[in-house]
Amino acid sequence: MELNLLTICYLIASVTFIIGLKMLSNPASARKGNLVAAAGMTIAILGTIFLYESEGQKLHNYAWIFGGLLIGAVVGTLAAKKVKMTAMPEMVSLFNGMGGACAALISAAEFYHIYELHKASPDTAFADIIPMGSYITIAAGAIIGTISYTGSIIAWGKLNGRVKDFSFKGQHIVNMIVLALTLAAAVFAYRSTVGTIYLPFILIGFFAFIYGILFVMPIGGADMPVVISLLNSFTGVAAACGGFLYDNKAMLTGGILVGAAGTLLTILMCKAMNRSLTNVLIGSFGGGGTTGAAGGKKEQGSHKEISLSDTAMVMAYANKVMIVPGYGLAVAQAQHTCHELEKILEDKGVEVKYAIHPVAGRMPGHMNVLLAEADVPYEKLLEMEQANDEFKTCDVVLILGANDVVNPAAKTDPASPIYGMPILDVELAKTVIVNKRSMKPGYAGIENDLFFQPKTSMLFGDAKKVLQDLCAEVKSI
Ligand code: NDP
Repeated sequence: MELNLLTICYLIASVTFIIGLKMLSNPASARKGNLVAAAGMTIAILGTIFLYESEGQKLHNYAWIFGGLLIGAVVGTLAAKKVKMTAMPEMVSLFNGMGGACAALISAAEFYHIYELHKASPDTAFADIIPMGSYITIAAGAIIGTISYTGSIIAWGKLNGRVKDFSFKGQHIVNMIVLALTLAAAVFAYRSTVGTIYLPFILIGFFAFIYGILFVMPIGGADMPVVISLLNSFTGVAAACGGFLYDNKAMLTGGILVGAAGTLLTILMCKAMNRSLTNVLIGSFGGGGTTGAAGGKKEQGSHKEISLSDTAMVMAYANKVMIVPGYGLAVAQAQHTCHELEKILEDKGVEVKYAIHPVAGRMPGHMNVLLAEADVPYEKLLEMEQANDEFKTCDVVLILGANDVVNPAAKTDPASPIYGMPILDVELAKTVIVNKRSMKPGYAGIENDLFFQPKTSMLFGDAKKVLQDLCAEVKSI
């Protein structure tokens, strides 16, 4: 009876995961989707704690379980409340790493469990105790979970600037060797006896740990989003292995959904950057320590500036304005002021839309989330292809803290590290106004020819301050 109830709990959880994921695909329902899936997860956790039974025994170590839950809930809540919007990708990466570590620890616990059960006969071969299929699941969980853990921690360090890109000649070959050693250790463990299982098991963890570091270390700059979503899918697969292991349907469904969603997102991100996954992983695109640096100096012409009042004038008398948000808008936390400007312009009869580049900002969907937070209607957000069709009908494009995603070098300069990445064709509009604080490059660390084109005027200053002043100026016209 209780087991049936538990199965129903897992079924409810699985269904909420699917519904939640579906709701996440639209910014309007994403928040609720998250809550729906979290409610399902709570049911699955509580069901496991109170209803799970193995060989007539229920879980009893409640102090440990609730102690862990409490610590995790407090740390997670505080971290999520305190995190700045611009630091979200770092947090996602860190949390993803924790998921990987959990999956790896489940496998470690299972290894230990098998060892405990059979330690009285130390000469028994591991392969005689455990079927190959189950062993592969345990080993895969340990390997993939560990790689996801160390890879995510390195990605976290890179995103917050604590870890610098690092690569050396022949690194990909070294990586392949370390991966091969990890797999060899897994085979070695299966062939070992119960009494000697410790060494090969430690070797599996050690090599997978090193591989995770080496795998992410050389990938830099603009490729981080792809790596993060790839690591996310790794964690999903590792969790699914845990689901197989314990025959836990909720864990299995959750893991598969995360794995599949992460893989699809990885493919979509690669497509958005016009690159293959192999090219991302082996090409070191955007790497070389240029992340966020003021490097990439190239001889350019001169740029021209525009005053706040001229900007207000041009915008107030335009028929159509397209706003291009970028990372700088998130840094300045200027999304609410931006929405205010949009409303003021609309009151004056100006049509206002937003052009959203898929990798604008520092995480997938960053701009959608940012603008949804400010209640910008979703219909106003145009995806890149739609926006590129509409730029020619715009009188003004206002770029707010975006740089790489509007850099024409992606189309015109084969030597550029972002060559081939689809960009927003802002120069098709009549006038382009760029708001940023200086002439420094963006994330990929390269100069932007757009800023020197005759159509373009620079409006320097912090996005929030500039938008506040712009609101007042436009209102007064
Ligand atoms: P960029 O990083 O290219 O440019 C942002 C610009 O914002 C900078 O040039 C900076 O110039 C300006 N800026 C910073 N702070 C402010 C402020 N307070 N007010 C006004 N401007 C400001 O951002 P994009 O959004 O154009 O491009 C995103 C880049 O990040 C791409 O290269 C992408 O590949 C990469 N990336 C994307 C991820 C994703 O998943 N979306 C994840 C990780 C990386 P200045 O200092 O002069 O003000």
